[in-house]
Amino acid sequence: MPTPPNDAAQRRAAKPIVCYEVEQLPTYDSAFYETARSTLQKVSTVRVAPRDAATFEVPAGHFFRIVSTEGPQVGDLNLWNAHDLTERFFSGKTRQLHASHVSTGDRLWSNLPGLRPMATITHDTLDWYGWDDDGAGVHDVIGTRCDPYTNTMLKGVNYHYCCHSNLTRALAQQQAQPTAAIEQHVHDVLNVFMCTGFTADTHQYFMKASPVRPGDFIEFFAEIDLLGALSACPGGDCGSSHSDDTTPCYPLLVEIYQPAAQTLSDWAPAPLNGYDGSHGL
Ligand SMILES: [Zn+2]
Repeated sequence: MPTPPNDAAQRRAAKPIVCYEVEQLPTYDSAFYETARSTLQKVSTVRVAPRDAATFEVPAGHFFRIVSTEGPQVGDLNLWNAHDLTERFFSGKTRQLHASHVSTGDRLWSNLPGLRPMATITHDTLDWYGWDDDGAGVHDVIGTRCDPYTNTMLKGVNYHYCCHSNLTRALAQQQAQPTAAIEQHVHDVLNVFMCTGFTADTHQYFMKASPVRPGDFIEFFAEIDLLGALSACPGGDCGSSHSDDTTPCYPLLVEIYQPAAQTLSDWAPAPLNGYDGSHGL
């Protein structure tokens, strides 16, 4: 290893600066969301089978919940603009604007050039978890999704029920298109209920058994018309392995709720980003 320079300690002592002026983000209007959610009526439920995925649609101004049912289970969530698959959830920017793990009051942002809130997290029964002694938290936007390419590279076996493949199959069926045409639309996920962090010594991504239990849920408000897909990860609670059939897995539910119309009287769907798009040319 090269010898550190004489002023190494001084260089390391530079002060961390939070990258974005996040106080400029639209504030979380809890009174608005709490008023709307106090009037919710369930309009539909979609069951996501273990080691499989399902799609669902949420009109702007509706809520949806991802619910743990029969046992601890992690879900991998993709979101698209229901009218344009090229606008989709941008986990990297969501991580930069909020944190490595998200919860109530955080928003799920769309990719460039839209860059607008697609959904707002309005309730999370795992809010209590916070950060544990390993530095782990719940609902991360760090990891991507388990996929058959990485699995083949590392283990030399074909496995067809990774979240990437589950999401691809579900969207292909919903769009009535072959998987080859659809796979490009599957993107980095929100790891719902997953408990993750970075190791203190080597900063490697780790997972540990999810604290989720039947009855827990995370709730979102749709800021635009959404098409979603949720995979019940083959890793189950992600406490041991993934990308195989060895871990117990359980179904997840997606419940769609409609609030009373009068609670939305002053609300409008999120507008597209205001940048002029010229890039200086
Ligand atoms: Zn997975």
